[in-house]
Amino acid sequence: MNPKRTFAALALILLAGLVLYFAFVRRDTPEGPILTALPDLWVTTVPGAEPGSTAAKEESTSAAPTTSKAATTTKATTKSSTTKTTTTKTSGEAAYAFAGAYEGIEPAITAVTDPYLILVNRHYALPAGYQPALAVCVPVYAEKREMERTAAAQYKKMYDAALKDGAELIPYSGYRSTQRQKDNFDRLIRTNMDRGLTRVQAINIAAQSIMPPNCSEHEAGLAMDITRPGVWDVRDDFKGTKEYKWLSDHAFEFGFILRYPAHKADITLVQSEPWHWRYVGIEHATKMRDSGQCLEEYLGRY
Ligand code: ZN
Repeated sequence: MNPKRTFAALALILLAGLVLYFAFVRRDTPEGPILTALPDLWVTTVPGAEPGSTAAKEESTSAAPTTSKAATTTKATTKSSTTKTTTTKTSGEAAYAFAGAYEGIEPAITAVTDPYLILVNRHYALPAGYQPALAVCVPVYAEKREMERTAAAQYKKMYDAALKDGAELIPYSGYRSTQRQKDNFDRLIRTNMDRGLTRVQAINIAAQSIMPPNCSEHEAGLAMDITRPGVWDVRDDFKGTKEYKWLSDHAFEFGFILRYPAHKADITLVQSEPWHWRYVGIEHATKMRDSGQCLEEYLGRY
């Protein structure tokens, strides 16, 4: 037996094994491909729809004043926003409220040290029952889009400033209840499975464009999906609009950041979302703009 041939045969077998591993096994890992196509995520109604519509009803019930801890924390920590605060992983505390429901999704509970710097993503979840104090951000629309009350007030200021410059930042999707987030996430998983994906693949792909329940910035009231006049939808081509250009130049002045830029997708694990703007406060938004960091980098947690 020629030792050279034996060696070559072994090398070939090893190579074939590696190819098979990357072709099949890796497809189920969390680092799956970033999607470029955006599925339809939100069932909603057009502006000017009857307040009795499903979306309006759901959002108006969530607008009830709250006396939760979150509201108190908001007040208490606003003063101390100059001190360096970061979201920390809390071990041994509350478990993820949906533990076991979504294979591969087992986030830690995020610490709410500063309510405006909360880190929520597929690795960090809001504590179960987290409820921000809400306010309508721009009261001119029939659908009362809400955010956490400071974020809402800042959004209104930003909206007014942009309008003066000829850009209308229409609030498309703001605060969502955890139940609504769960419904959206479950619906997308079903859609993905209908396309022939396994459940694990369907969950993984879904989490690249919509966060699992308890893991969305919309549930914290800190995110707004923005659209423009004439388009009642969130779309990639928002990036080419004057509204997007205005936001890119001025959003930080009001405390908002582009949360999921295309070039940070490997860190955020979310595909590019030019419409999703996150409130972090003016100080942090300015620092993040100057440093070019996304939230995970800014907090050193990724
Ligand atoms: Zn969003």
